[in-house]
Amino acid sequence: MQVTVDLSRCQGYANCVGTAPEIFDLDEETGQAVVLVPEPPTDLYEAARAAVAGCPVQAITADEES
Ligand code: SF4
Repeated sequence: MQVTVDLSRCQGYANCVGTAPEIFDLDEETGQAVVLVPEPPTDLYEAARAAVAGCPVQAITADEES
C-alpha cells in the first residue's frame, strides 16, 4: 500500500490524524497533513482505509496495488 496526500486539496481538518495517528501528523507550519508512514504495514491498512473515507475533501489516496 502507498499512502499519499494531495496537498492542493488538504484543508488541515486533521480527521486523518484522529483516525490514524500512526500514519498521519499535521505539519505545524503549513497546517496540512504529513504522511509519516507512506508504506504502512498490513496491520495499518484498515486505519489507512478509514482515513481515506474520513477525509472531508478526498485528499488521501491509499493505493493498494503498490
Ligand atoms: S483529513 Fe484530509 S483535509 Fe484533513 S488533514 Fe487529513 S488529508 Fe488533510
